[in-house]
Amino acid sequence: MTDSHRDRTDRCPGVFTTHAAADGALARIRLPGGSITAPQLEALAEGTAEYGDGFLEITARGNLQIRGIGDTDALGALIVDAGLAPTSTHDRARNIEVSSLTGRIGGAADLRPVVAELDDLLRADEVFARLSGRFLFGLDDGRGDVLARHPDVTAVARTGSVADVLLGELTLGSVPVDALASEMTAVARDMVQVAPSAWRVGDLTGTEHAAIVTAASARLDAAVGEPGTPLAASPSPIVGWFDQDDGAVLLGGVVELARLPARLAQFLAAVGKPIIFTPEREILLCDLDEAVAETVVRVLAPMGLIFDAASPWTSVSCCVGAPGCGRAHAAVREDLVLRVKQDPVDEREHWSGCERGCGAPTDAHLRVEATPDGYRRTHAHG
Ligand code: SF4
Repeated sequence: MTDSHRDRTDRCPGVFTTHAAADGALARIRLPGGSITAPQLEALAEGTAEYGDGFLEITARGNLQIRGIGDTDALGALIVDAGLAPTSTHDRARNIEVSSLTGRIGGAADLRPVVAELDDLLRADEVFARLSGRFLFGLDDGRGDVLARHPDVTAVARTGSVADVLLGELTLGSVPVDALASEMTAVARDMVQVAPSAWRVGDLTGTEHAAIVTAASARLDAAVGEPGTPLAASPSPIVGWFDQDDGAVLLGGVVELARLPARLAQFLAAVGKPIIFTPEREILLCDLDEAVAETVVRVLAPMGLIFDAASPWTSVSCCVGAPGCGRAHAAVREDLVLRVKQDPVDEREHWSGCERGCGAPTDAHLRVEATPDGYRRTHAHG
C-alpha cells in the first residue's frame, strides 16, 4: 500500500482535532465555498485575539486557521457557538470550493445554493465522516476557475440549469443543477465504499476507479456533446473595485502574508455584509452600495487591507516556516517580507520552509524552498 493511501492517520487539522505545531495548537475552520457571515467573522476575530496569536490565516483552500492556541476547548466552543463547526464528526469533510464570484459576477449558473445543499447532505450522513480531510468537492460555474484546482468530484455548469459531473478529470455525465448536490454525494459515497483507504481520487486503483464510474454512469445522463464555450475567466487577481451584475459593488483585497489581524477582521465584520475568502487568499467584501464601498476603502486600506491589484502581495504566498513549524529550515515569513521590500515580483511565487511545500498553488509558479543549505528555486508547472 502506498503512502498516499490512508495506512496512517489523517492528520488534517480541524476545529475539534487541532494540530500540535511548534508555536502551539493550530485549528483549521472550514468555510464551505469560502463564505462567512459578518457575525461569524466577528466571532473568529474575538477568538484569535483571546485564545490565538491574534491573526486569522487564509489557506490555499479559502479556509481560515488560528495558530498558537492557548485554550483549545474555549476556542472550540466559541467556533461552535458561531455556527462554524456544526458537527464534530464531519468537521473535516466539508471541503467545498465554488467559483468565488458565482451569482454575483458572470458565470453560467449561480451555484451558491448548491454549496449549502451539499454541505447539508455531507453533514447528514455518517458515511461522509470517513472522507479524508483532503478530499475536495468543486463547484465551477462554467468559468474554469475551480476545475483548474483539480478537485476530486467537480460540477461544471454548462447553463443555468444543467451541469456536468466529473470524477477527477473524467466527465461522468450531466444532471440538472438542482440535482447536483445529491449526485456529487452519491459519487463520494461510492468512493468511500469502494476505496475506504484512499485519500483522494488520484489514489484510486484502476479497478476502484472503474467501479465508481460504472455506478455513476447508471445514474447520470450522458454528457450532451462537447462542453460549451468556456466563459470569460474571473479577473485575476480579484483585487480592487468590481461591479456586480445586480448593480452592487464587490471589493477584493489581500493582506500581507495572508494573515488577517484580528482588529482588521473586526472592522471588516462591522460592515455587516457577506465575506468570501478565496483559494488565492483574497478577501471579497460583497453586496456593497457605492458610498459604503468608498468608506471601506478609505478606512480599511490604511489598516493593511490592500486593494491594489498590482501589489506584490497578490503574487506571493508562503507557509508558516520557522519558528512556527518544527520542520522548517528557515524563517520563511521574515525572508519573504524582506524579498518583497527589496525586489519587484514579476511572477507567481510560493515560499516554503521544507520540501513539503504546504499551501503551494496548483497552477504554475516559482517554488522557493528552504533547504539546510539555503533556498532552492525551481519552476512548478501546475
Ligand atoms: S512546507 Fe514544511 S516548513 Fe512549511 S509548514 Fe509545511 S511542513 Fe512546515
